[in-house]
Amino acid sequence: MSEAWLEIIGSSGGAPTPSSWPPSILLFYHGLYGLLDVGEGTQLRLVEKGVGPGRIDFIAVTHMHGDHIFGLPGLIQSMSLSSRSKELIIIGPERIKTFLEETFGLTNFSPVFKIIYSSPINASVLTSGKAKLVIKGFKTCHVDESYGYVVTGYKVIGGDERKIFKLVYTGDTALCDEMVQALRAEEDIDVLIHDSTFNYNMRNQAREYGHSTSIEAAALARELNVRALLLFHMSSRYKNSYKQLLMEARSIYEKTFLASDNTKFIIA
Ligand SMILES: [Zn+2]
Ligand SMILES: [Zn+2]
Repeated sequence: MSEAWLEIIGSSGGAPTPSSWPPSILLFYHGLYGLLDVGEGTQLRLVEKGVGPGRIDFIAVTHMHGDHIFGLPGLIQSMSLSSRSKELIIIGPERIKTFLEETFGLTNFSPVFKIIYSSPINASVLTSGKAKLVIKGFKTCHVDESYGYVVTGYKVIGGDERKIFKLVYTGDTALCDEMVQALRAEEDIDVLIHDSTFNYNMRNQAREYGHSTSIEAAALARELNVRALLLFHMSSRYKNSYKQLLMEARSIYEKTFLASDNTKFIIA
């Protein structure tokens, strides 16, 4: 079995389609499970995949738009019903804590396990035997406070700690200097999962709404020389033409793939 993989839970933009659910990505590394964003329906897909809610160790949220967080209260409730006792780390904007506590209060619910809220700016570190996972946020350029995440897996081999993989997830963002600068500082990115809400014809709308075109995602992937670019958060207006987004991106960067729902990518 591979030591690190990711599986796309939902890949849609703001509005889902029957085959493309709101954004969420499941990550596995040496027994550790994490979610990047938790769109509506995430827990249903986890159940389908045989990953019980109790197994999730951390959740990293990019921003407070509903398509990225509306799956979170239900997932936490199910974690509680399954008598989870281990702590859950939630990384994200400060308002995520308010959102959850207000929801818990209004629905007369109290989780039976501890939730640790962590700022994206600080690195969160999880360990499993000789393996270590580091999750660190960087600022992105959406229409609200927003972060992307660099997730790096390490392992001690023969007494030395070695990098096993590095994954970058942008969440919703326009292509902006601040983000590009932050990512230029990262060496050897294996997988870049990038906002790809619009096609080239809608590049002005992309800028206006704090999103990217697939061509902009490809331009960044080329500059960073990533091993693979996954186009993500594709608008439902392209539900019959996702390939067009892919073709546009591939004209700039060959190593581009669609992050379609339920697709699994082995990363190490
Ligand atoms: Zn979104
Ligand atoms: Zn958004």
